[in-house]
Parts: sequence; structure tokens; C-alpha cells
Amino acid sequence: MASITMRNLVKNYGNVTVIPGLDLEIADEEFIVLVGPSGCGKSTLLRVLAGLEAIDGGDLMIGDRRVNELPAAKRDIAMVFQDYALYPHMTVRQNMAFALEMRGLSAAEIAPRIEEAAKLLDIQPYLDRRPKALSGGQRQRVAMGRAIVRDPQVFLFDEPLSNLDAKLRGQVRAEIKTLSKKLRTTMVFVTHDQIEAMTMADRIVVMKAGIIQQVGTPEEVYENP
Ligand code: ADP
Ligand code: ADP
Repeated sequence: MASITMRNLVKNYGNVTVIPGLDLEIADEEFIVLVGPSGCGKSTLLRVLAGLEAIDGGDLMIGDRRVNELPAAKRDIAMVFQDYALYPHMTVRQNMAFALEMRGLSAAEIAPRIEEAAKLLDIQPYLDRRPKALSGGQRQRVAMGRAIVRDPQVFLFDEPLSNLDAKLRGQVRAEIKTLSKKLRTTMVFVTHDQIEAMTMADRIVVMKAGIIQQVGTPEEVYENP
């Protein structure tokens, strides 16, 4: 539901430059898969988009809004992490409600959002359990649910399937692709799995040492590597 524009985006950690000046335009509702060797800056780029890290130069636009200095909570972006990052002491329902409570939504506003997301993801039976009592695949769905209830314009995924076994991975991969069509959101999905990249991406972005090496459809990237 929003385009993303990065112009000469710079990110440093102390005096180490991780992203030296990145230009990329992501279209509204596009599904981007970001690939590249470990340490090339994929997670850093997601964290910068989410507003969990400040940028050191350039511009970042979401839709037509310049968000360089906008805090994470105000960005209309939700992120799903590899380790799910669920709060262990909270139930599934509480995990899903938390960000909405922080935003000041009332219990009456929050409940239907949780019901709707739970139905979409088939996690209604687990709403009152804690993460510890769930399987990996169920936790993954809860992490998705927690992102969906925020009703974001953009979803960021940092290797969200890498802790699942092969069979479940294929299933959740298809589900995420279906969800992206249903929700009509813009997706940026980091993976090192070539099958995920090929089957999910509208365009693949290949990164190396903080620099974009190649951008194209799966056919373009894998036929002309
Ligand atoms: P990727 O996700 O592609 O594996 P990262 O974005 O995690 O890469 O890391 C890119 C580079 O930035 C690596 O060299 C990593 O060591 C470094 N880095 C990541 N996070 C931090 C941090 N919080 N402080 C300092 N350096 C970091
Ligand atoms: P706190 O440390 O204040 O309890 P969190 O650790 O939940 O907050 O999150 C830190 C920041 O990251 C907050 O600004 C929050 O809005 C944001 N945040 C938390 N979860 C997500 C998510 N799934 N996607 C995007 N941003 C998030």
C-alpha cells in the first residue's frame, strides 16, 4: 500500500560504513526479495526501513512522506523476525495486542483486529497460550499475526522461515505470498533460500558489501547471474 524510495542512503556503525549510498525504488504492492552473503547489510537495511536504526545520510521515503527522522512506531511498517521475537511472558493474544495498546487503541478496537488476523492465519485455538506452548510453525504464524494487526503499509521479513522444517517452509511460503495479495501491502523479504527468492519475488535485489549488485525479476537474476 506504499512505495519505498531510498536515495543515496548511508548507514554507519561507529566509523564503519555498512551501506555506503544505496538507491532503490520499490513500487506500491511490490514483493521484493533481498538476497546476498552473510554480513552484506540485509538486516541493517530492514532495520533502517523499520526505523529501528537511524540513517547517516541520504533520504528515505515511504509513499510521498520523507521518514528519515520518523520513529519506528509512527512508520506504518511491521517487521517479522527470524526468531519471531515474541514476548514469552505474554499470551498470543497479549503479544498481538501489545503494539496496539501502545498506540492507545481501546480494548474494543483491539479485539476485532485480533479475531480477524487470527482467523486469517488459523491461530484462533492458540490465542490464550504462551509462545512456549506452541510449535515453530505456530509461533511463526503468531509473529505474522502480530505484524498484521498493526495494519501496516509495508511488511519487512528477516528470514522468517529459516527455523521451520522443509515441509512447513513450503507451506508458509505459499501462505505469505497469498497474504501479500490479499492485504495488498508492499513486502521486503530477506532470505538466503533461492527457492524462496524465485517463487516469491516480483523483483530480486542482490546485495554485496552494502551495495546493490543486481535488481531484476527472478528470471533476469537467475538466468544472467
Ligand atoms: P546481513 O543481514 O546481510 O547478514 P547485517 O546487516 O546483519 O548483514 O550486517 C552488516 C554488517 O554490519 C556486518 O559487518 C555486521 O557485522 C555489521 N553490524 C550489524 N549490526 C551491527 C551493530 N549493531 N553494530 C556494529 N556493527 C553491526
Ligand atoms: P519497547 O522496547 O518500547 O517495549 P519494542 O521492543 O516492542 O518496544 O519495540 C521497539 C520499537 O520497535 C518500538 O518503536 C516499536 O514500535 C517497534 N516495533 C516493535 N515491534 C515491531 C514490529 N513487529 N515491526 C515494526 N516495528 C516494531
